[in-house]
Amino acid sequence: MTIDFSFPPEIEELRLKVRDFMATVVRPVEEKAEGNAWERKDWVQAIIEMRGQAKEWDLWLPHMPKEWGGMGLGPTAMASVSAEAARTGIGSFVLNCQAPDEGNMHTLLHWGTEDQNERYLRPLCEGTARSCFAMTEPEVAGSDPTLIQTRGYQDGDEWVLNGHKWFISGARGARFAILIARTEDDPDIPQAANSAFLVDLPSDGWEVVRDIETMSGGHNHCEIRIEDLRVPAANMLGGRGQGHLLGQARLGPARLAHCMRWLGQAETALEMMIDRSLNRYAHGSLLAEKQGIQWMIADSTMELYQSKLMVLHAAYRIEQGLPFKTEVSMAKHFVANSLWRIIDRAIQVHGALGYSEDTPLSGMLKQARWSRFADGADEVHQMTIARGAIASWKDTGAVKLATGDLPL
Ligand SMILES: Cc1cc2nc3c(=O)[nH]c(=O)nc-3n(C[C@H](O)[C@H](O)[C@H](O)COP(=O)(O)OP(=O)(O)OC[C@H]3O[C@@H](n4cnc5c(N)ncnc54)[C@H](O)[C@@H]3O)c2cc1C
Repeated sequence: MTIDFSFPPEIEELRLKVRDFMATVVRPVEEKAEGNAWERKDWVQAIIEMRGQAKEWDLWLPHMPKEWGGMGLGPTAMASVSAEAARTGIGSFVLNCQAPDEGNMHTLLHWGTEDQNERYLRPLCEGTARSCFAMTEPEVAGSDPTLIQTRGYQDGDEWVLNGHKWFISGARGARFAILIARTEDDPDIPQAANSAFLVDLPSDGWEVVRDIETMSGGHNHCEIRIEDLRVPAANMLGGRGQGHLLGQARLGPARLAHCMRWLGQAETALEMMIDRSLNRYAHGSLLAEKQGIQWMIADSTMELYQSKLMVLHAAYRIEQGLPFKTEVSMAKHFVANSLWRIIDRAIQVHGALGYSEDTPLSGMLKQARWSRFADGADEVHQMTIARGAIASWKDTGAVKLATGDLPL
C-alpha cells in the first residue's frame, strides 16, 4: 500500500506555524481594525508591518520557487498554507499569495521571457507591486472566451487595443495588467483568437471607470474602458493566439488556490457552528444535543471532509504532472457549493446573531456567493465534468478516468 494521507513532518510543522502566525500576528490586527474603523492609511501601515513579520517568520511567498525569493512549495503543501491563511481575511495577502497576483505569478513564471519576468514578476515577488488579470467583459458571456470583443491590431512596434472589461480584481492601484484581447481574425480553432499583453499601469487609454459595488460592498473589482491603448510588441505574453493556453495554464492551479482558501473559511464556519451549539440552550437542552442541529453539523463535517480530499487529490495530480482539468473542475464546483451551505448552516445555528454584522458569518456568506461563478460558473464546470465522464465511457468502457483515476 502506498496511499499516505499525511504530510511530511516539515510540511505539518509549517502548517502549524502558519496557523500560529495567523492567530498571533494577523487576527489581532484584524480585530483592532474592526474595533477602530480603520482608514486605508492605517491598513497600509499595518500590512507593511505584518509583511515584514511574515518575512521574519520565513513565511513569505510560499508558492514561488526559491530563486524568486519564495519558499518553493508545491500544490499539496500550498493547500495547507492557503487553508490556514484563509482563517483570517487578509492572511494570504500578508504572505503574498493572494489572488489575482498568485495566478499572475504562476503565469509569468510559465510564459514570461527573461526580460518580462525581471520587469513584472520580480516586483510582484518582492511585494512592491500588485497586478490584475483583465479578461471578462460586460457585453459578452465571460464563460466563453471565444466571444471576447476587446481587439488589438499591430501598428509598427506596438499593439493598439480597444475594448471594455469589468470585474477586474485589484485593478485600482495595480502596477500592471495581464490583458486578454482578440488579435486573430481567422484562427485555426475559435479558441486561438486571443493573445495576452502586459500593460503598464497607469497608462493612457486605460481608464478605471468605477469600482463595482457588489452585494458585499466594493472590493476593487473594477470596470475598465480601453481606448487606443498602445502596448509595445515586446509586451505580448506568450505567442499570438495563445491567450487560451495561457488562461488554461493559469486557471487550473488558480482555481484550486481559491478552493484552498475556501477550505479555511468553511472550517472556520463549522467551528463557529459547533461552538455556538455548545453554548446555546433552548427547550431543555443545548443546541448541540438536538438531532436537527447535529444533522447540520454532520452534513457540514462530511462536506468539509470531501472538500479536503478533493482539493488534496487535485493538487497531488498537478504536482505529479498528471492531467488535472476534471479533478480541478470537480473540486471547484464541490468546494464552492459546500462553502455556501456550511456558512448558511452556521448562520442558521446562530439565529439572529448569525444574520447580524456582529459575527463574520454574514460577510463570509456574501463573499462565498461569487465562488459559484467566478473562475468558471458551476454549470461550465459541470459541462467539463460530464464531457470527461462521457469520453471516459466511450473510450474505455468505464468511468474510472473521469472519477479521479483512482485505483478503485
Ligand atoms: C468577485 C469577482 C471577481 C472577479 N475577478 C475577475 C478578474 O480579476 N478578472 C476577470 O477577467 N474576471 C473576473 N471575474 C469575472 C468572472 O470570471 C466571470 O463572472 C465568470 O467568468 C462568468 O462570466 P459572466 O459573469 O460573464 O457570466 P456568463 O458567462 O454570462 O454566465 C452567466 C450564467 O450563465 C450560466 N452559463 C454560462 N455558460 C453556461 C453553459 N455552457 N451551460 C449552462 N449554463 C451556463 C451560468 O449559470 C452562469 O453563471 C470576477 C467575478 C467576480 C464575481
